[in-house]
Amino acid sequence: MSNLRLVFGDQLNKEISALKGLSKSDFIFMCEVKEEATHIKHHKKKIVLLFSAMRHFAEELKKDGYNVIYSKLEDGNNTQSFDKEIDRVINTNKVSKLILTEPSEYRVLEKCLLWKSKLNIPVEIREDTRFLASHTDFEVWSKDKKQLRMEFFYRKMRVKHNILMNNEQPEGGKWNYDAENRKPPIKGLNIPAPTTFKADNITKEVINLVKNEFNTHYGSIESFNLAVTRSDALKVLEKFIKIRLEKFGDYQDAMIENEPWMYHSHISFYLNCGLLLPLECILEAEKAYKKGAPLNAVEGFIRQILGWREYIRGIYWLQMPQYEEMNALNASKKLPDFFWNNNTNLNCLNQCFSETYENAYAHHIQRLMVIGNFSLLCGLNPKEVNEWYHIVYADAYQWVELPNVSGMVLFADDGVVASKPYAAGGSYINKMSNYCKNCKYSVKEKTGDSACPFNYLYWNFLIQHQEKFKSNPRMAMIYRTLQKMDEDKVEEIKNSSIKFLNSI
Ligand SMILES: Cc1cc2nc3c(=O)[nH]c(=O)nc-3n(C[C@H](O)[C@H](O)[C@H](O)COP(=O)(O)OP(=O)(O)OC[C@H]3O[C@@H](n4cnc5c(N)ncnc54)[C@H](O)[C@@H]3O)c2cc1C
Ligand code: SF4
Repeated sequence: MSNLRLVFGDQLNKEISALKGLSKSDFIFMCEVKEEATHIKHHKKKIVLLFSAMRHFAEELKKDGYNVIYSKLEDGNNTQSFDKEIDRVINTNKVSKLILTEPSEYRVLEKCLLWKSKLNIPVEIREDTRFLASHTDFEVWSKDKKQLRMEFFYRKMRVKHNILMNNEQPEGGKWNYDAENRKPPIKGLNIPAPTTFKADNITKEVINLVKNEFNTHYGSIESFNLAVTRSDALKVLEKFIKIRLEKFGDYQDAMIENEPWMYHSHISFYLNCGLLLPLECILEAEKAYKKGAPLNAVEGFIRQILGWREYIRGIYWLQMPQYEEMNALNASKKLPDFFWNNNTNLNCLNQCFSETYENAYAHHIQRLMVIGNFSLLCGLNPKEVNEWYHIVYADAYQWVELPNVSGMVLFADDGVVASKPYAAGGSYINKMSNYCKNCKYSVKEKTGDSACPFNYLYWNFLIQHQEKFKSNPRMAMIYRTLQKMDEDKVEEIKNSSIKFLNSI
């Protein structure tokens, strides 16, 4: 009798725990099911990326001589749900045990746990060893802590994995070089083109499938050019290290019109579906430092993966399932239609929305300080904002999207992730981008019809949530400024905000 090894669409790596001890008599099972592709209406390019990468991975395993059972979405006998597909495959093949790596999302794990009682064979759910901190590691770290700040978790991870360490001390004497990584964009930056790939026959087949089956989903499907194999994803990493890393730190927060890719790595697509592993990305960056790459860039990049990515995942599993229900600021405004159709005069939003629609990608500061900041200041409903972020980005999975949105952006988790809301007025966007130059609104004006909406919405947010935040030590200075503001000014802010919020 053989084992049935289930591989989910975001576990596309031969190193996953489900494939440990694999024998040639085992079956590896992978399936494309409508239930998953439509439980939210993912961006078309995300579906192409995942289905094509799955099909390529299955081909590689077959070439290695393994028995792969693969359900394509269009197969006549595909039942289009995980539960039914597992039943079907167990009933048609002689298997003694189902082995899988823990899925990345809580909702799917609940389903898998039920298999233990529903199926008539043993089910073994193994730890997802692609992450560098296990659930237990994170629980132990978080136990007895009043606040779960990323920075302290990150330091522990640096020591544990001996990354950028000089004996017991951080390389260069500091743990974090973020202060050097906030340079505004300058004219004449020669930003390299992203590393792209031509669609092969498998990808072309999937593009046609997505055009036929998921045509009503959000996003453009034109010029799909992402990597869909591990070897191509490794090329993206290699080119990043060689060409972009040097300026990654300096311009990490900068935004330029029609420059969606900046100096970022664009590896989240591949890390999150298994084509790349976090430690190999970290080690490549550390190697580059030893060969002379700037420490602020290397440390900044490593912190995103070893720190933020692992921490965000830890928060997700620690806080679920109640985390997705949290709404600490009682935000209830409906998501405006322009999040979907980009019919807005705010040029910063317009830029970020159009790039998101086109590429299923926006970089961190666009997600955080433009779209996220706007959602926070307008009091948009966390469920709807989360759903939007989950749909529109090709790297979005609930484990990483939810804590970033409900925690980092919306403060819906009441400060589990962020020590204060990431709220800012138009001057931040003006400093870090060239978006304001071509905007209908004036970033210099504070209130009134032609003023930048971020300006009055920022103060309006502080006024609305005064009771909650005025005793937060990190916000004391700004609340002192608010207290000194004259009453007419406060009225103007409130009136401009009401008018704008009613208009969207
Ligand atoms: C509101 C919001 C929603 C987000 N949603 C997602 C999401 O659905 N999926 C996702 O992978 N990232 C998400 N992020 C984090 C981050 O924006 C993306 O990981 C990053 O933009 C991906 O582009 P890159 O690969 O070029 O990243 P780089 O800027 O080159 O960073 C390198 C890597 O660090 C990791 N990383 C950096 N920041 C974070 C973070 N805050 N959380 C987790 N990993 C991080 C990513 O794996 C990324 O690939 C979100 C951030 C915000 C503020
Ligand atoms: S002026 Fe305001 S709305 Fe316009 S681009 Fe600048 S920050 Fe955005």
